[in-house]
Amino acid sequence: MNAESLSLCEKLVPASYVQQGAQARRMLENKIRIFIQHRKLPDTGWADHEIEILLQELSTMDSNNFPGNCGVGEREGRLYSSLVARRHFRLAHGIGRSGDITAVQPKAAGSSLVMKLTNSLALDVIKISGVQSVASCFVVPMATGMSLMLCMLAFRAKRPNAKYVIWPRIDQKSCIKSMITAGLEPVVIENKLEGDELRTDEVAMETKIQELGPENIVCVMTTTSCFAPRAPDRLEEVAVLCKKFTIPHLINNAYGLQSSKCTHLIQQAARTGRVDVFVQSLDKNFLVPVGGCIVAGFDPNLIQDISKSYPGRASAGPSLDLFITLLSMGSAGYRQLLQERKQMYTYLGEQLRLCADRNDLRVLDIKHNPISYAIGLPEATDGKVTELGGMLFTRFVSGARVIEKSDKVTTVSGQSFTNFGAHHDNFPCSNMTVAAAVGITMTDIDTFFTRFDQCLKHFRKTHKTSVIVSQENNGANETRLNEQFQEKSALDSKTGKGEST
Ligand SMILES: *Cc1c(COP(=O)(O)O)cnc(C)c1O
Repeated sequence: MNAESLSLCEKLVPASYVQQGAQARRMLENKIRIFIQHRKLPDTGWADHEIEILLQELSTMDSNNFPGNCGVGEREGRLYSSLVARRHFRLAHGIGRSGDITAVQPKAAGSSLVMKLTNSLALDVIKISGVQSVASCFVVPMATGMSLMLCMLAFRAKRPNAKYVIWPRIDQKSCIKSMITAGLEPVVIENKLEGDELRTDEVAMETKIQELGPENIVCVMTTTSCFAPRAPDRLEEVAVLCKKFTIPHLINNAYGLQSSKCTHLIQQAARTGRVDVFVQSLDKNFLVPVGGCIVAGFDPNLIQDISKSYPGRASAGPSLDLFITLLSMGSAGYRQLLQERKQMYTYLGEQLRLCADRNDLRVLDIKHNPISYAIGLPEATDGKVTELGGMLFTRFVSGARVIEKSDKVTTVSGQSFTNFGAHHDNFPCSNMTVAAAVGITMTDIDTFFTRFDQCLKHFRKTHKTSVIVSQENNGANETRLNEQFQEKSALDSKTGKGEST
């Protein structure tokens, strides 16, 4: 309300009350001013109604919300459903212009401000997470795989004769597809088994680079966050190779922003060698719905080249979700989440070792993975350790991955992998990985172990039977076993027996 409106208000309610109300409003306006001025995460998170007021003001600045606006174009931010309008705070124009995803949209000052402010918040949060020397970043409304592809295509444009991507193996289909869909050729560098851990073979990488010729290589794509028993790549060593051979270095930091170990690796690699871009998922790091990514790097011109290669306008949805979430968290809230995650990682490790002891299993010795663990699984003589995964799934456990030791060859986008899922052709044992990612609670962990214990008991019981019966009739036995599993889990869910909490 302006001064005139306020003085009119004073005719309706006592002036002192109006003044006090106006002062409260000015405090919020001041908060908004400080935010727009500094474009950093506030120390303390904002209340929902404060964020809503800011968003309402921003959406008032978009042409589709102008009073009496008359649109005669083909894209006028028209919305049919009021539900959809409210879901987006009436911001309907998206972000960017046809030539650049970070360009300002003349019809939509409000949406453009959301985009610019979100990118600034993202830069700040990357610094808070540990990559202090990051120079520039932008939010892309595409998940990690597609965003990696966008980056590789931007590299490719600068190295038109190159077609190879040097890629330390990580068994994640979207990584492979990001290269194939970009029309590039993955060159797999197999991981080295060091103790229980899978680590980058930088010697094999250097040999491969020399063999192919650095000028024929679009980039090296490394990975930080990954499932144990794989460890984050040796970023520093790879960065030094990239610098030596003048090859772009792209880092898949999918959920690595939440781990100070991963961000430290990126920071150090950029300091001692070459890092061009690192990409991180919004949903995996910031507790927002799937659909967005942050593309970040150390050279603003390169980051701009990538943003310019995005064809057309883009959804503002992921930026808006991040904008709201970061304002709501504040830097204190974000730091607390990171700290809690670290505590939960330690707790998960302790509980996993106790679980291993009481079930006669072994936790694999993975020193370098700061987010997940792997536990060796009992080798069933009938080789059906993956049933454990199914049993966990029917008990509403999600995210635990059971990796069966196998010499099966899997083809992903035309690329063949032996023992796919294990990150290695012949990793010595079947194992299960569990992760302590941001947002996990102690209840998640405790409940998981209750259910996992039940699954293990059940697995051991049924597999003794299966060994005997399977000598007579393999197929029939399998069917019977599956029925047993289903009966058991149906019973569990009825009686609540699957649960102790
Ligand atoms: C999640 C993830 C991806 C794929 O991410 P999308 O967001 O689904 O494209 C790629 N690599 C790693 C290491 C991941 O964790």
